[in-house]
Amino acid sequence: TFTVAIVGRPNVGKSSLFNKLVGRRLALVDDQPGLTRDRRVADAELGDMRIRLIDTAGLEDSGNELLSNMRRQTMAAIGQADLVLFLIDAREGVIPADQMFAGMVRDSGKPVIVAGNKCEGRAAEPGLMEAYSLGFGEPIALSAEHAIGLGDVSAAIVEAAEAQCEARGEGSEVEEGDERPLKLAIVGRPNAGKSTLVNALLGEERMITGSEAGITRDAIANDLEWAGRPIELFDTAGLRRKMRVEGKAETLSVGDALRAIRFAEVVVLVIDAERPFEKQDLTIADLIIREGRGIVIALNKWDLVRDKQGRVKELREMCERLLPQAKGVPLLPISGLKSKGLDALMAGVFEMARLWNKRLPTAKLNDWLIDMVEAHPPPHVGGRRLKLRYMTQVNARPPTFVAFCSKPKDLPESYIRYLVNGLREDFKMPGVPIRFNLRKGE
Ligand code: GDP
Repeated sequence: TFTVAIVGRPNVGKSSLFNKLVGRRLALVDDQPGLTRDRRVADAELGDMRIRLIDTAGLEDSGNELLSNMRRQTMAAIGQADLVLFLIDAREGVIPADQMFAGMVRDSGKPVIVAGNKCEGRAAEPGLMEAYSLGFGEPIALSAEHAIGLGDVSAAIVEAAEAQCEARGEGSEVEEGDERPLKLAIVGRPNAGKSTLVNALLGEERMITGSEAGITRDAIANDLEWAGRPIELFDTAGLRRKMRVEGKAETLSVGDALRAIRFAEVVVLVIDAERPFEKQDLTIADLIIREGRGIVIALNKWDLVRDKQGRVKELREMCERLLPQAKGVPLLPISGLKSKGLDALMAGVFEMARLWNKRLPTAKLNDWLIDMVEAHPPPHVGGRRLKLRYMTQVNARPPTFVAFCSKPKDLPESYIRYLVNGLREDFKMPGVPIRFNLRKGE
């Protein structure tokens, strides 16, 4: 179910909005494990869609000492949400507490709608304008109490829900599943063997769906199946054909690689095993990791390699040294030309896709954090030890974590690396790009 978290600092009117959107007809949804009574969950019918709403308002008016608890609740709600509905009090404008909650939303990378509540009367206009400064787009004017703007809010939610369902190629009722085609791109420097590999993967059943497929005007995708699983393959060769038609030079630029990478969930970086990890290879690898895509490296032209065993070891060492950002990235020897190693390559791709979608339960993460901090405590700053108290996964695709730290700016980069590498190892996510954000909190 498409899930919307209503988020904002205390007293902006989240509960009123929740109640209005849910109406009286629908009962509260049973608490899911890990959901405390501080977060209310209910399904609402908006347009002709069933939308799940999470209200994070349970702790309003409970005083400052509970604010940090509320932050946690908010974080957890954001983690479960497909969309965040961020609320401010338009009469007060944007105050620092709003900025703090807005920061959490931003860190999560989730799509967001912003609304200014208490917009009855003219006094709220300047405050509503201030909401632009949050960078969440055009704010919706709302008065939950006076039932102004509710239609606009629900239309915006429905639009976002429909857009997401469409992007995932599913109906509104269909849960995310294995049937959704995996979006795959094959990139690499010229002559690494991309086209050869694509042809080998497409094999006999080569089926160019090209622009008729209607994915988008630009994305030229080939549909194929591997081991019974549907795949949408970004067709770099098609891009090249298209460019030839348009009379452009035939070399693919970084921009083209980026386009393929952005299209994809998992990217296969093809490198020439005889001339491995050249500058261009590393540039593209870095791009893939920075875009947060799953990465699998194909060591191509393996048929030409003499000392195959020695070579694997050598290349693995090179990779760990040159690409520490993606520690443990799968390196898979193939020969596109001879169609060798393709099953193992695709198994690596599917495994990467699974890990890229992985969600770790908050309770487990926090047990883990306690152990990590105990094994290797954060340093002292200004005579006091930095505290790391709580963490949660706020997003998947790629896995994105937030931890609360007493002085986030003072926590050394090396400590963050320690945590990220620890996550990778302990939760078995080798080579997966992991995003890790710190927020201030005791
Ligand atoms: P692209 O520019 O990355 O698309 O590279 P191509 O697929 O056009 O391949 C470049 C050259 O490498 C061609 O001459 C291919 O025949 C050759 N090649 C590609 N894959 C292999 C392979 O696995 N083994 C060998 N020996 N040659 C390959």
